[in-house]
Amino acid sequence: MTDGRISIEQLTGWLLEFARLVTEHRDELTTLDAAIGDADHGTNMERGMSAVVLGLGGDTVGALCKQAGMTLVSTVGGASGPLYGTFLLRFGSSAGDATELSAAQFAAAMRAGLDGIVSRGKAEREDKTMFDALAPAVEALEAGAGGSLVEALRAAAEAADKGRDATVEMLARKGRASYLGERSIGHQDPGATSAALLVRAAATTLA
Ligand code: ADP
Ligand code: MG
Repeated sequence: MTDGRISIEQLTGWLLEFARLVTEHRDELTTLDAAIGDADHGTNMERGMSAVVLGLGGDTVGALCKQAGMTLVSTVGGASGPLYGTFLLRFGSSAGDATELSAAQFAAAMRAGLDGIVSRGKAEREDKTMFDALAPAVEALEAGAGGSLVEALRAAAEAADKGRDATVEMLARKGRASYLGERSIGHQDPGATSAALLVRAAATTLA
């Protein structure tokens, strides 16, 4: 990725847009969670992201994302709060004192965030979790190195949507949905659905 640098204002805009999309899709996320979980993913994410929006600020990318991550961990009771919170905390650590990110630094921070989700939740590919939408998106961002940021973000959003759709046929092996065993098959994972919104928000605000 050669063109474009991502400013702290754009990263703030990313989190604002994610919050907006979460609210727009709150009922859909909750309905998906009603089928294979406990019907709270939409309200969990809306509560968390509304608190993030109220506390947005920071002079560095690290400060901005650590603040947001801490807020998610402390305001969301469900599994998704600590997982998205850890994503943002690790994203922030990766970016550190930077006040803007190159596309390659953004991809590295996304990878660090994903690694944080894995270290916290132990999800593997095809466990039917948010990992299945986020991991292909991170891979698309990394594969886009050397090309255009706009293209890489578009590819990442497409990869996240495809990964989200693929969760329908998966048997859940992590989280509440895993209690259902075979009965989890045929339902789209709520966390993969919100993760695809996070990547879509990046594509519309960072390019
Ligand atoms: P809870 O399951 O505690 O009610 P939410 O409903 O907010 O929390 O979030 C559920 C989503 O969290 C799932 O759809 C799944 O994508 C994600 N999830 C659950 N456990 C894990 C895990 N161990 N690793 C990654 N993601 C997970
Ligand atoms: Mg739930």
